[in-house]
Amino acid sequence: MMAATRYLIIGNGVAGVSAAQEIHRHDPSGPITMIGDEGIPYYYRASLSEWIAEDNTGEMVLARTPAFYAALGIESVVDTVLSVDTEAKQVILDNEDPLGYDRLLIATGASPNVVPIEGLEETLVYRTWDDARQIKVGIASETRVLILGGGVLGLELAGALARLAMRQIAIVQLLDFVGPPLLDEPAGRWLEQRIRSDGLMLFLGDTVERIVAQTAHLQSGEALDFDLFVQSVGVKARYPEVPGLEIGKAIRIDAHGATNLPDVYAAGDCTETRVRSEDRWRPTRIWLDCARQGKVAGCSMAGIEATLTEYPFLNASILYDVRYAYIGDPNGGGGVTYLMEDDGVYRKLRVVDGNLAGALLMGNRRGMMSLYRAIGLPVAEYGDAVVRPDFAWNDLTGRNWDYDFY
Ligand SMILES: Cc1cc2nc3c(=O)[nH]c(=O)nc-3n(C[C@H](O)[C@H](O)[C@H](O)COP(=O)(O)OP(=O)(O)OC[C@H]3O[C@@H](n4cnc5c(N)ncnc54)[C@H](O)[C@@H]3O)c2cc1C
Repeated sequence: MMAATRYLIIGNGVAGVSAAQEIHRHDPSGPITMIGDEGIPYYYRASLSEWIAEDNTGEMVLARTPAFYAALGIESVVDTVLSVDTEAKQVILDNEDPLGYDRLLIATGASPNVVPIEGLEETLVYRTWDDARQIKVGIASETRVLILGGGVLGLELAGALARLAMRQIAIVQLLDFVGPPLLDEPAGRWLEQRIRSDGLMLFLGDTVERIVAQTAHLQSGEALDFDLFVQSVGVKARYPEVPGLEIGKAIRIDAHGATNLPDVYAAGDCTETRVRSEDRWRPTRIWLDCARQGKVAGCSMAGIEATLTEYPFLNASILYDVRYAYIGDPNGGGGVTYLMEDDGVYRKLRVVDGNLAGALLMGNRRGMMSLYRAIGLPVAEYGDAVVRPDFAWNDLTGRNWDYDFY
């Protein structure tokens, strides 16, 4: 009888869990071990801001309970993988003995960047449940919060805190507009007005140079007192040391989730994939993409043919307090841009050579799924009507989409 394949997954996020589910489905007799260093079952990282803003002290709702792991026969190990010995087919752990594998998945996510600042000894970042917990326990109505970074996550955190009516929320942003890379400058200015009108302080084209006690001294000469300081200045792929692994800005995977090393797969934020249509590598940063990659890698590991489809880019979430959808490539150069600004609404469509290239919908996401399906399709005949929320969306794709996103 052939010995069962031993599967080892490093990382207990959406990519790792999606892979585990597929492995178990296709090879239920293969033992799965998952190693994670957060010490809690899988939770929705994208819901952390919602949890912070909730007016309670309850625990974060888990996406999977311990019963899920038990049902799949998963052995969970809480430890940090320091390195992988692909010759001996084992991972080296920080605290425990090395663990062997037949097939390995690296799904280790990303870690937040930290800017070194004179006088700053410790800093909060915003990535994990533990980070969110520290922020949540550190705030009260009298708290003055200073967020370094006015990108997507910094704004999401500011939006959550604004719901809690704090004494002071200040954002310091190096670029002179908020929301990059999702927003270009005009869209950033639109959002900026909204943030300022809520009474938040914004320091654009500025940075924190020095911290003395509880005061941040900005490059512009401003001095800001704070009680809680959080850095949100982007992330980088995180992975253990693996000799010979092909890495660009992240671990490079093919369309089946495989790396360049035998029996080593990767998925999620720690990876980058080849975008054939644009002839470049794209880092993975979207929850949905991480889930898809985890599924494909899980199938491949279990010997089932699966391929990552090249979808147009789609990210739909909340920026500050505005629901947005970013579809395809709305901010690239060239083509014709149609813009619609209304009370609380900012919609932008980009058409290149008569074909829909991208859309940015803020405040009103009506038509989101039709636009997503219509990327690359001819839309010139509709002129600027396509940017309007009341456009007959189903005409674009010839299919009735049931979705109604606002
Ligand atoms: C606050 C926040 C809001 C977000 N909102 C959205 C959103 O609205 N929409 C969206 O599409 N995306 C959003 N994202 C991004 C999305 O959550 C990530 O793309 C996704 O969760 C990444 O999943 P993953 O499985 O690749 O990695 P992770 O979820 O990071 O999981 C990796 C796990 O591996 C562990 N690990 C890492 N290295 C090791 C090691 N050496 N040994 C052991 N364990 C290790 C990590 O601690 C972590 O638990 C958000 C992210 C954050 C932080």
